[in-house]
Amino acid sequence: MRTPSRWRRLTDVVLSTDPKRRTLVGMALLALVLMAASASVMLMVAHSDPATNLSFVQWWAAISFGGLGVMTAFIRSGETKHLNDPSLTIPQMVWTITSGAVAYVLAGDARGVVPSVLAMILFFGTFGLSVAEVIGIGVYALVAFGCAIGVSSRFSANASGYLDTAYALMVVIVLVGCVALNLRIQSIRARLHEQREALARALEVNRELATRDELTGLLNRRAMNDLMELERRRNARSGRPLLLAQLDIDLFKRINDQHGHATGDRALQAFAGVVRASVRDTDVLARWGGEEFVLMLCDTKLEDGRDLLERVRDAVAALEIPHATGTLRLSVSAGLAQHQPGQPLEHTLERADQALYTAKALGRNRVVLAPAGPRPAAGPAAINART
Ligand code: GH3
Ligand code: MG
Ligand code: MG
Repeated sequence: MRTPSRWRRLTDVVLSTDPKRRTLVGMALLALVLMAASASVMLMVAHSDPATNLSFVQWWAAISFGGLGVMTAFIRSGETKHLNDPSLTIPQMVWTITSGAVAYVLAGDARGVVPSVLAMILFFGTFGLSVAEVIGIGVYALVAFGCAIGVSSRFSANASGYLDTAYALMVVIVLVGCVALNLRIQSIRARLHEQREALARALEVNRELATRDELTGLLNRRAMNDLMELERRRNARSGRPLLLAQLDIDLFKRINDQHGHATGDRALQAFAGVVRASVRDTDVLARWGGEEFVLMLCDTKLEDGRDLLERVRDAVAALEIPHATGTLRLSVSAGLAQHQPGQPLEHTLERADQALYTAKALGRNRVVLAPAGPRPAAGPAAINART
């Protein structure tokens, strides 16, 4: 168990703890290792071939490796994160291609190894670049290697024209391969992007279905329970008044029976709309089930809550729902209870429900306040009704 944590600490120091930067530094270090390997091969050639200038190759190796090292340190410092290309892919590729072109001139007879190193660099870089960037880099590589091949065939003691032509062709083949690979990567990326978008949309629909009532667009019971629980916890700390109201449309069954279920559905939608429009943005209305609704009023005094419910009752009474043979009117009964800190929410809801029961018993179309105090044993205790 100790080894991974030490390893982790080591990689944290080398790569950083930021996940995005870790990936970038990791890729830059890989490029650095590849450059070190290529430089080692060049140094080996220079040691074995007396025609090659060893000190030139040593300088070349130090500059090529040093340049990439500086870029890696820059990426590790986090300074590149605000740039368009935080991985410095293009500067790294330009640097490495230039270094490869110089190596081609310096390597003498061993220059045949350089195009394969170029292929590796381009294939690597191709994953992070757009098609235009790959073409741009490709043109640069073509120019750089064209110059290198020109210089080496002109000044090399034992220049062999057909080999230089073959190497030039290899460079062109590698470039065409890179563009093809890049196009393929772009199309896979586009497909992945589309799939991710479709998944995000499906998740959003799922979330809506899980939290919203389909008919009215209000929160459903489950989502409301979660919100009320959150508010209860807030209320326990703040001590600010929290009110819960149970609302029930009066004689709704009759509407269904007389005008049909579809009209009943429209009446429910109209009711939900009018209640929502009558309360504040911070008040939360949910469809509790059937033609029953729960309204949560945060930071509201009982009297203010009652006045608001009276306004809701007036607004519902003023609502006109057209149907086949005329217009339909609704009325609503409501029971309002103030949450008592320390009590479970179910008790508060039960008290609101008892008050609603009282409102129905008193003739409907009214607001009744639940008496303060513990959960009522059965039936309404004190009644505060207005008609
Ligand atoms: P009360 O004043 O005592 O509340 O009488 P009520 O008729 O409103 O109460 P009851 O519980 O007897 O009837 C509720 C009706 O609501 C019965 C049910 O068919 C109807 N209902 C429940 N959900 C829906 C719905 O989604 N659409 C429609 N159209 N009707 C619904
Ligand atoms: Mg009803
Ligand atoms: Mg009911």
